[in-house]
Amino acid sequence: MAAIEMKNIVKQYGDGFPAVNDVSIDVEDGEFLILVGPSGCGKSTLLRMIVGLEDITDGDMVIGGKRVNDLAPRDRNLSMVFQNYALYPHLTVYENIAFPLRLQNASDSEVDEKVREASKTLELDEHLERKPGNLSGGQRQRVAMGRAIVRDAEAFLFDEPLSNLDAKLRGQMRTEISRLQKRLGITTVYVTHDQTEAMTLGDRVAVLKRGVLQQHATPRELYENP
Ligand code: ADP
Ligand code: ADP
Repeated sequence: MAAIEMKNIVKQYGDGFPAVNDVSIDVEDGEFLILVGPSGCGKSTLLRMIVGLEDITDGDMVIGGKRVNDLAPRDRNLSMVFQNYALYPHLTVYENIAFPLRLQNASDSEVDEKVREASKTLELDEHLERKPGNLSGGQRQRVAMGRAIVRDAEAFLFDEPLSNLDAKLRGQMRTEISRLQKRLGITTVYVTHDQTEAMTLGDRVAVLKRGVLQQHATPRELYENP
């Protein structure tokens, strides 16, 4: 059973051309899937339908074997990492990472254990008492991932997480995300318009154009058969 099954997914805004048009993609357990395509091709809309931030016009969204079309975002047990990180500026790194656990009313000892484990994995243990405003872009990105990791989520979803970074940092973060994803073995869907990212990060790449799935293959297959 695939971790995420998108079956004939359609998104229609108003009465124009569908933003997502009959897209079917299976994301296997532990797979790193890239959604790529030019601006306006529907990739954010598709990601938001996985997370539950957007209603699905037609088709079935199945996560962990369960149809989630009518489930609220908080009931889907997914972790989304946004482009702007969405960190709380007045909270320390520690409390930013702890936030989802606090929402679940986890005990202090459980919070502490999970935050320390995540911050070690992300090499943030030296920075736990700092505030986001005093961190580099790369560190902020890692805090955002820390918040995603502590929840033991079913999958990670990334919406163009690196597009605010300069080229050098982008390269470093790309390597880091890839390394962490493999180490954690967590199913990941990653949206980008950047071809390089698409070809270097993912196990498989889904190419969208005007809402239609054009290709769905490994980077190697795409190189050999563009
Ligand atoms: P991106 O290309 O990075 O997804 P956009 O600029 O297309 O960013 O969209 C930014 C926000 O505006 C999104 O939340 C999207 O839902 C919304 N949006 C985009 N196009 C429209 C539209 N035609 N009408 C209303 N909202 C839109
Ligand atoms: P991408 O992420 O690939 O840039 P989007 O998913 O943001 O593409 O948008 C796909 C299409 O849907 C675009 O034509 C966009 O203008 C439209 N769109 C996105 N959000 C909205 C919205 N909230 N209302 C109306 N149209 C939207």
